[in-house]
Parts: sequence; structure tokens; C-alpha cells
Amino acid sequence: MKTALVWFRRDLRLADNPALSHALERAERILAVYIGGFEAPGTEPGAASRWWLHQSLTAFAADLNQRGAELVIRRGEPAKVLGQLAKEQGAEAVFWNRLYEPAQDAADRKTCDSLIAAGLEVQTYNGALLAEPWEIQTQTGGPYRVYTPFSRNVRARGAPRSPLPAPRRIPGLAAQSLSIDSLGLLPRIRWDAGMSRMWTPGEAGAHRRLGRFCDEALHDYSAGRDRPDQLLTSLLSPHLHFGEIGPVQVLARLQRELAEQHGPGVSAGAEAYEREILWREFAHHVIYHYPTTPTEPMDPRFAGFAWRQPREYAADLARWQRGATGVPIVDAGMRQLWSTGWMHNRVRMIVASFLSKNLLIPWQEGAAWFLDTLVDADLAANSMGWQWVSGSGADAAPYFRIFNPVTQSQKFDPQGRYLRQWVPEIAALPDKLVHAPWLLGPAESARQKIDYPVPSVDLGESRARALQAFDLIKQRAS
Ligand code: FAD
Repeated sequence: MKTALVWFRRDLRLADNPALSHALERAERILAVYIGGFEAPGTEPGAASRWWLHQSLTAFAADLNQRGAELVIRRGEPAKVLGQLAKEQGAEAVFWNRLYEPAQDAADRKTCDSLIAAGLEVQTYNGALLAEPWEIQTQTGGPYRVYTPFSRNVRARGAPRSPLPAPRRIPGLAAQSLSIDSLGLLPRIRWDAGMSRMWTPGEAGAHRRLGRFCDEALHDYSAGRDRPDQLLTSLLSPHLHFGEIGPVQVLARLQRELAEQHGPGVSAGAEAYEREILWREFAHHVIYHYPTTPTEPMDPRFAGFAWRQPREYAADLARWQRGATGVPIVDAGMRQLWSTGWMHNRVRMIVASFLSKNLLIPWQEGAAWFLDTLVDADLAANSMGWQWVSGSGADAAPYFRIFNPVTQSQKFDPQGRYLRQWVPEIAALPDKLVHAPWLLGPAESARQKIDYPVPSVDLGESRARALQAFDLIKQRAS
């Protein structure tokens, strides 16, 4: 065929991009298209993700340029925009990589039908996952709700395919395009300095991040991945979310490292890292098969849970969001999130447990805040994370396992380095007190001029209150 459109979404990369590679095999020329402002409900990027998307589109457009193509940006309903562009360019087919959030999937199916009805060929591919959500089935042919057998099933399929190389040259077409700026993705009031310092969005940044992780942290990952004070995780989540790198490439890189680096740390690290990549797969599997998980508890008993009412919890929610709860590990995490758009996984679990259990605020409030403030905000992973912590999700932590933020902080940030970095008000306190500064007492606090709030809830009492609320739903269920 002479001309094809390639529609890019969360697959902003040249290497291992099945839609792009197949389009280039079939067509003499392609038109690379991005359509702004028309995501399916629930998948619209939040403020931090919009910042990332702006940078990622900028990097991707430059990468395309280097290979001879342009990124054409339009706005509007995808079927209309793609139909119109196909007419303008005389294109015969449209290629894209699939997305799996149910609302997005439904919208894509409509787009597909409408393009086919207009006489175009449509080809779609898996560029985001190791396996399609419908390919992995339990023995009775249904979807999984438990991670371990799911991951065993994915592993049993053997090594993923080899990653596709980036095309050397892209015979691209040009068309009238909006500018990336005109998508209005950047914040009007610039609060993004911390994010700019920490991240390099784009395909090259993703590979650099993975390379650095393999060189410097993989051998320690298994033991160190729970330590927020040491940063031994890969920081690949936003790159994976925007498809600047794919899981097939990540696992291929791990295989290379295993062939080149030796030692028990490396193999334990690679195994633990693969497990996390499979948690990402599991999240997509769950959201695909259980589409209400972003809003409804998977465990129906939780539908009647005695959460506090919005007017009762509004002030506590605001303190949690601002990182001013008076519990240092919670505040450190929430400030890290606000400043960098990212939070360490261990701390995500602690702040989520504090919100949904100690403060008895519905987990959906926390999930919404995360979706707005994380650069890696991902409807599948975020919904699973929140349901897991609050006890209502697939393969969730039992409800009665309530994280004690003080013991968690003592265990995973023993010298209080992470706390002191993000909560400077308490930096001068000795190690013993830095995890629980309220133990200092008001008089001593005033004498030492510690300007830091006292928690609005007592950790022990609020734990007992959460367990009582849980007992109520257990009784009702029985
Ligand atoms: P690494 O430890 O280096 O892990 C490698 C990759 O594996 C990650 O980049 C990610 O893609 C995947 N991964 C790791 N842990 C998980 C997990 N528990 N679930 C799914 N995938 C995982 N992750 C997101 O990508 N987006 C979210 O919106 C998100 N929200 C979360 C909310 C809560 C309440 C919790 C507890 C977890 C959430 N996670 C989310 C999962 C996890 O915290 C992040 O993926 C991880 O912290 C990203 O850092 P990293 O890339 O350095 O991780």
C-alpha cells in the first residue's frame, strides 16, 4: 500500500513499536498522528501526567524528525480526525497499539468500526504488555483474581518475543499540525521545577534510566527495593506508562544483564524485578476483566463500609494531601509526591493505609489525588494499589493488616534520612524521635522551636476504630 496513518497514544517510542514497524513493512509512506484532548472517561491525564506528556511528545517529535518523519498533532474525536486525515493524504489504512482500560478499549472499538465503515483498513497491536489480558486464563477459562497463579501462567508461556528494532529511516508525510504547546498541557503556574530536575521524559531517557538501574542497583534490588532512603528501584514507571519503553524490552535487557553480570544479587534482583513487571501485567489484566475497579470495591462486603463523611474528613484529607498530618513518614511521602510527581512504593502503601484506615477516608479520594499528582498515574496500577492496601481488591492485603507508620518508618528508613530530606522541620531531632516527634511533648517542642503539627488522630485509637468498622461489615456479610 502507498500510505498509512500510525496513531500514537501511550506508545511514544520508535523501538519495539509493533504498530509503527508493521505500518512501515506494509506502506511506502506513513503519517504519524497524535490526537490531543479526547481520552476516554477516567483515562484523562492528571496535572503531573500532563506535564510528562508535554515533554514526552516533544522528545518523540524530535526523534521522528531525526528519522525523516513529522508528528502531526490534531484535536478532536479520533474517528473523525483519522478519517479526515486519511482522506487528505489518500491513506488506505490506520495502525495503532492497543490500550486496555475498559472505557478506552470500548472507545477504540467504536473508532475502529467507524474507520472500517469508511472503507479503511485498521490494524491494531499489543505494544504495552507481555500478554493480552484475554490470553491469560484460569483452568476454568476465566480471569485471575490472585497474582501468584497469574504470574505463574504468564511465566509458563516462556520468554517474550524479541524486541523490534527502531526503524533507521521513516518515510514520513507532512500535514498541517497543531503545536505541542497548543495542547495546553503545561501548568499555568509553574510548579514543575522539582519534576524537571528529576526526570528526562522520552525514549532516550527511559533507556538511560533502565541502564543506570541495571548498572547500579539491580544487584541490590531484591533486598533494597523497600528502602525509600536508598532509591534502589528503577524509576521506570512513568516511562512504562507512556510507552517510552515496553515490558518486552525491559525483560530482554534483564536477560542480557543476567548473561553479562554474575552473582546471587544479580539473579535475585532480576527475579524480583520481573515479579514487579508482572504486577503491572496483573493490574492490566484485572482492570480489563473487572472494569469497575477504579471506583467500586472488588470485595462486595466493602460496599457498605462505614467511611467517614466528606464534611467530617475534609480537613484531614487536605492535611494528608499537603503533607501536614504530623506523621513524618506520611508527610515525607506526600511531599515527595508533590515535589517530584513520584513516591516510593513502600511509602505509597504507608500513606494509603494511613488515609483509608487511620483516617477512615474512602480510598477513592486517595486514588483520585494520586491520579492527579503522580507522573506515573496509571488507572490500572493505581486502582489495584489502592484496593490492595484498603483490603477490598484482588489478592488484597487482609484488612486487619494496618501499617503502623512509626514501625514502618523505623524499619525502612532507620536513620531517618528520607524523613529529614522531605520534612526539614524535624531534621534536628535525634533518630529515636524523628519517626514520632509527638513523643517530645508540647513544652519540649516549643523549647526546641519545632514547628511541626501533632497528628489529628492517635495511631492506636484510630487503628482500633478501623478494625471496628471492618468487624461491622464482616458481621453483616455473615
Ligand atoms: P520498580 O520497583 O523499579 O518496579 C518496576 C516496574 O514494575 C514499575 O515501574 C512498574 O511499572 C511495575 N510495578 C512495580 N510495582 C508495581 C505494583 N505494585 N503494581 C503495578 N506495577 C508495579 N504504579 C504505577 O505505575 N502507577 C500508579 O498510578 C501506581 N499507583 C499506586 C498506588 C498505590 C496506593 C500503590 C501501593 C502502588 C501504586 N503503584 C503504581 C505501584 C508502584 O508503587 C509503582 O509502580 C512503583 O513505585 C514505581 O517505581 P519504580 O518504577 O521505581 O518501581
